[in-house]
Amino acid sequence: MGLQDITARIEAAAKNAGRDTDSVKLIAVSKVQPNARVQTVLEAGHRSFGENKVQEAAGKWPDFRESFAGVDLHLIGPLQSNKTRQAMGLFDAIHTLDRPKLAKTIARIAQEDGHCPALFIQVNTGEEEQKAGVMPRDADAFITECLGMDLPVKGLMCIPPVDEEPSLHFALLAKIAARNGLQGLSMGMSSDFERAIALGATHVRVGSAIFGERTTTG
Ligand SMILES: *Cc1c(COP(=O)(O)O)cnc(C)c1O
Repeated sequence: MGLQDITARIEAAAKNAGRDTDSVKLIAVSKVQPNARVQTVLEAGHRSFGENKVQEAAGKWPDFRESFAGVDLHLIGPLQSNKTRQAMGLFDAIHTLDRPKLAKTIARIAQEDGHCPALFIQVNTGEEEQKAGVMPRDADAFITECLGMDLPVKGLMCIPPVDEEPSLHFALLAKIAARNGLQGLSMGMSSDFERAIALGATHVRVGSAIFGERTTTG
C-alpha cells in the first residue's frame, strides 16, 4: 500500500539527511478521499491526518475518532475567522495561522475554553497574490506578535509555487524559523517531501502518494 512505501521513503530521506526518523511526522492528507481509503490507512495503524476544510473534517472525523483511539488531526487549509471555534474543537493542530485578526480570535477562544491546538504560521514564501500566508518580510513581526499573545506556535508552514524549485522555499522557511527560535517546519507534499526532509521538515503533508489520486466526489 501507499502508506508503507511513503513511510520507507521518509525513513530513507531522514537517514540520508543524518536525521532521526522520529523527527519527521507523516500527515496523511485525506481531503476528498473516500472514507474506505481513510479507514484502510487507520486500520494499518496510522493516526496523523490532514484536512483542508473545516466542514469536511467535521463530517467524518468525529466518527473515525469513535472507532480509532489516538487520532491526531491537522488543519492544513485556510481558516475563516467565523469557523475558528469549530476548528479549535476539531483539530489538534492548525497549520494556517496567517493574519493578526485570526491570531486574536484564537487567543480569545483559547482563554475562554482553556484549550488551544498547536499552531503553525503559514508563510507565503513565493509571495503569490492568490496564496494565503504572511509575507516573508512580515514574518518576524507576526511571529513575535503571536508569541506575545502566548499562542502555542510550534513552527512555520509553506506551500511553494507549483512552477518553482521547492528547495529554495523550504530553505527560506527553515531560515525564518531558525532566527525566531521555532522548531517545527510543516513542508513537503507528495512530489517533494524528500527534499523537504533534507532541509529540516518536521511535518510532511502527503496525500495522493498515500491514498491515490483524489476523486472529486469523495
Ligand atoms: C492537498 C494538500 C497536500 C497534499 O498534497 P499531495 O500532493 O496530494 O500530497 C499538502 N498540503 C496542503 C496544504 C494541501 O492542501
